[in-house]
Amino acid sequence: MRGKETVFQIAEKLVDLFWQIICPPHCVICEKVLKINNFICVECRTKLPFVEDMYCLKCGKPVGDDREYCTDCKKREHYFTRGVSVWSYSPMLKKSLYRFKYNNKRYYAKYYTDEIVKRYSRLITQWGVDIIIPVPLYKKKKRRRGYNQAEILAKELSSRISIPLDCRIVTRIRDTLPQKMLNDMERQKNLKGAFKINKSVIELKKILLIDDIFTTGSTVDEIARVLLEAGANSVYVVTLCIGRGY
Ligand SMILES: [Zn+2]
Ligand SMILES: [Zn+2]
Repeated sequence: MRGKETVFQIAEKLVDLFWQIICPPHCVICEKVLKINNFICVECRTKLPFVEDMYCLKCGKPVGDDREYCTDCKKREHYFTRGVSVWSYSPMLKKSLYRFKYNNKRYYAKYYTDEIVKRYSRLITQWGVDIIIPVPLYKKKKRRRGYNQAEILAKELSSRISIPLDCRIVTRIRDTLPQKMLNDMERQKNLKGAFKINKSVIELKKILLIDDIFTTGSTVDEIARVLLEAGANSVYVVTLCIGRGY
């Protein structure tokens, strides 16, 4: 038996090696070929702008000093309880996220989730989250693009931290303009009536919303608003990238 296992293990290693030679792993961030089976290269690891300790205690934007809240959160209330993010938005991440979203690089979610888990799994446990929900895409847009990147990410996180995922609770019932094209007032108007809650089982549940990018937070805020209105206890947010808060 032991002999057979060893042969099997050797065969597995050979298959791995074969794949690495004909299809070597590429850095998720800069796309450089990697010598060892990893997700990112050493250079990218040192350059990536991880959100460190000094971030807004409400939305998670880096604040640059020991202030508790970012400029935006001092000015206005949010419906979500708290949000955290892995990185500050930067050009190197912009390209990686673009490939994840539009070029079918769904496996990037494995690396992105590694970083979320490393930083925030303890915090998510403290929050006592009952269910994970991705920010939904409009049906037609999802069909055109083939998949919803937030859903891929939420699915990966759900299996890694063993919290159930539900992609049907919130749906986007109408298409919206990209938020980055609009000012504050227009953003809120653009999202009005865009989301629908499909179940009543969210009563008193603590919900974790997942998205790739947090800009002003108006999308997750609107979803949090409708979830709270439908009886949710509280809404938390985890994103990959976030703008600066100073
Ligand atoms: Zn790299
Ligand atoms: Zn903030």
